[in-house]
Amino acid sequence: MRDGRRMLLLSMLLLLACATNPVTGKREFMLVSESQEISMGREADPQIVATYGLYDDPELAAYVDEVGQKLAAVSHRADLQYTFRVLDSPVLNAFALPGGYIYVTRGILAHMNNEAELAMVLGHEIGHVTARHSAEQYSRATLAGLGLGIGSLVVPEVAQYGHLAQTALGLLFLKYGRDDEHESDELGVQYSVAAGYDPERGATFFEVLDRQQQESGQALPGWLSTHPAPADRVARTRARAAEVKGQGVYRVGEATHKEQIDGTVFGEDPRQGFMDGDTFKHPDQEFQLEFPAGWRVVNATTAVVATEAKDQAQLQLTLERSEGASPRAFVLRLAEAAQAQIVESGVETIHGYDAYIALLQVTRNGQTGLIQVGAIQREKGGLIYQFLGRAASRFRSWQPLLLQSVRSFAPLQDRAALRIEPNRLAVVTLARPQTLAQAAAGYADAPVAAEKLALLNNLQVDTPLDVGFRLKIVRGTYHGGRK
Ligand SMILES: [Zn+2]
Repeated sequence: MRDGRRMLLLSMLLLLACATNPVTGKREFMLVSESQEISMGREADPQIVATYGLYDDPELAAYVDEVGQKLAAVSHRADLQYTFRVLDSPVLNAFALPGGYIYVTRGILAHMNNEAELAMVLGHEIGHVTARHSAEQYSRATLAGLGLGIGSLVVPEVAQYGHLAQTALGLLFLKYGRDDEHESDELGVQYSVAAGYDPERGATFFEVLDRQQQESGQALPGWLSTHPAPADRVARTRARAAEVKGQGVYRVGEATHKEQIDGTVFGEDPRQGFMDGDTFKHPDQEFQLEFPAGWRVVNATTAVVATEAKDQAQLQLTLERSEGASPRAFVLRLAEAAQAQIVESGVETIHGYDAYIALLQVTRNGQTGLIQVGAIQREKGGLIYQFLGRAASRFRSWQPLLLQSVRSFAPLQDRAALRIEPNRLAVVTLARPQTLAQAAAGYADAPVAAEKLALLNNLQVDTPLDVGFRLKIVRGTYHGGRK
């Protein structure tokens, strides 16, 4: 949070400067210098990593980095240092921070069918960096005095969305303009070709992104919400790709890509927490918690946020360092830091754990708000499970529900939940010609429907497949949570 404010201030203090756009060569109004761009990315990167988590597969990370560096080397800003990361999220997205930080989710990698598609997506993201789209957007947002917070939180200093500081959050949720998208599509084609990847095969992936429905309630925004589709993207990019490619021979890399993603976690990883009805269960941390019925729950690596259907109330759970403090000392310190008045408070024992519950009153800009705080400690001096609850209005009518949730925190004893495993992607080689639906039916343990497999392979359910075709299927027994 402190970083976010400092960054904003820095930007405001900068003289309004014009800079030359590395892609167009044109002078344009820019509030952010290149060195600031780099430091913006460098400061936001650890926050992104802490919030969404890196996918633990060094070989997969090395593969993405290798393809990414090839493209970066032929880009308009080859001198920048690029960092490519694989985030542990099932959402289909890829995004870039200013300064050369580029992220792909394990979800988007799972949906790609070859290396050329990866090259196209990475090339597109590199394009946002080289054409300085997000730096430019940041300039505009700062200019308009919008700041980059997510608004509406009663006390942003206390209650951060999933601990993501304002800079990273703002950068992540910036939506590119359609012209920027068009320009990045063009750069994706150029960089793919220059790095030797087949741009026509790469452009096919835009079909998958168009076919994929945006799933709500995810901790990370999806591709379409940050990269609006320009009209006829697929047709236009394909046509452009064919033109640029000419008669050359280019790499597709189907076998390589499928080998790299074989065995990766697919969909939500229930070991990091999943919803069983209205109960949130966390097998790795061995706790459970009841949320009010029907609330929307978003589970990020560092925070679980439950929101009432009409956004009238919200409860957030985060894991905090106690620095040796008891729950009471922890809450008192929090109240002091937020310059809050303690309205109600008391020591409690919640399912055997030491806890402290307090109601804080905070005043900001002449407005007063109430925040329900709960701190639970499972071992003395250990980490604190911190709850922050708030309501848009009539706090007292929501308070009993918020408290009921906090007090439902308990050790996880459900043995099936403790043993649960995520589903995984498997690449199978077909031994005889059949349709995708027929092939799918042969795997009785597949936890996803044929339609989903069709999307995953960018085929139709009735597409006839040849012997030797490498089909991606999903294996596992996890059916819970969001599909
Ligand atoms: Zn884009």
